[in-house]
Amino acid sequence: MNRLQSKLALRARKADALQARSGAVTTPSKPAASRSIRRVRHDIKVRHVAVASVQHPSPGFVSILLQGDDLIDFPSQSFDDHIKVFVPQDGAEAIRRDYTPRCFDAATGDLTIEFALHEGGAASDWASRLQAGDRVQVAGPKGSMVIPMDYPWYWLIGDPTSLPAISRFLEEAPAGCKVTVVCQIANEGDQREFATAANADVHWVSDYQQLLATVHELELPAGEGFVWGGLEGHTVARLRTMVLEQKGHPREHSKLSAYWKQGLADFSEKG
Ligand SMILES: Cc1cc2nc3c(=O)[nH]c(=O)nc-3n(C[C@H](O)[C@H](O)[C@H](O)COP(=O)(O)OP(=O)(O)OC[C@H]3O[C@@H](n4cnc5c(N)ncnc54)[C@H](O)[C@@H]3O)c2cc1C
Repeated sequence: MNRLQSKLALRARKADALQARSGAVTTPSKPAASRSIRRVRHDIKVRHVAVASVQHPSPGFVSILLQGDDLIDFPSQSFDDHIKVFVPQDGAEAIRRDYTPRCFDAATGDLTIEFALHEGGAASDWASRLQAGDRVQVAGPKGSMVIPMDYPWYWLIGDPTSLPAISRFLEEAPAGCKVTVVCQIANEGDQREFATAANADVHWVSDYQQLLATVHELELPAGEGFVWGGLEGHTVARLRTMVLEQKGHPREHSKLSAYWKQGLADFSEKG
């Protein structure tokens, strides 16, 4: 039996023990291989759009609504898709940064992006100055990693940069789906009410130590579930060790990504 099979067997034994202890009658979860991430490729297209409106949902965020004919065939199949936003530079080529399509309405072509504001970021500074009527270029998504939405439970672990993806997940999640959110946010004013039909248990924490401590305290629920995370790079490395190695959650039912890295501009996990 390889390492993965041992972990799966251990999880199945834990689930059986839990069920026996509680006396609960549950629908047996599907076998481990039943759900998997589906990869979808899209042609990369650069889209020229206009800022239709600018909102400030909370002190640390600016939400930009983009419109334009170029968005007609915009593809966005997953809550954690990303696009490249071109940030103009005086006398130089635009730089590009990754952002989540927070909402896309295929009927109207409305695309919303939420920027988490931070000190010393070219994209963050630029976004904070955008006004209705400004022209913007975006490219992608070049693909989607479509995570099945029928897992019995999810953990979503993030920070301000992934709050847009977490918010979108919760809006799209089926009714009653069990979701635990652990999100780091430095300013209490940036906590938000999620619009969701899911059964969401939300933990707001103020720093990454607290985030890791909170996840450490959580017990993996019984049955198949998905652990998703998008956050600072050093913290996500520790989170992977905790969730996948210490807690033994199967890697194929997880996606834990670095969304940015302390001290590095234009960080990309893929190099
Ligand atoms: C798949 C994906 C989706 C993403 N979606 C979003 C999204 O929807 N909204 C969003 O706001 N961000 C999102 N991000 C994160 C965003 O791409 C980075 O934060 C990016 O570095 C910001 O660019 P910048 O030009 O402002 O800062 P950079 O020029 O890249 O960095 C300058 C300095 O700021 C630091 N820094 C970068 N980001 C932060 C931060 N958030 N907080 C504190 N310090 C920071 C860097 O370490 C560096 O020292 C996403 C990232 C990925 C990979």
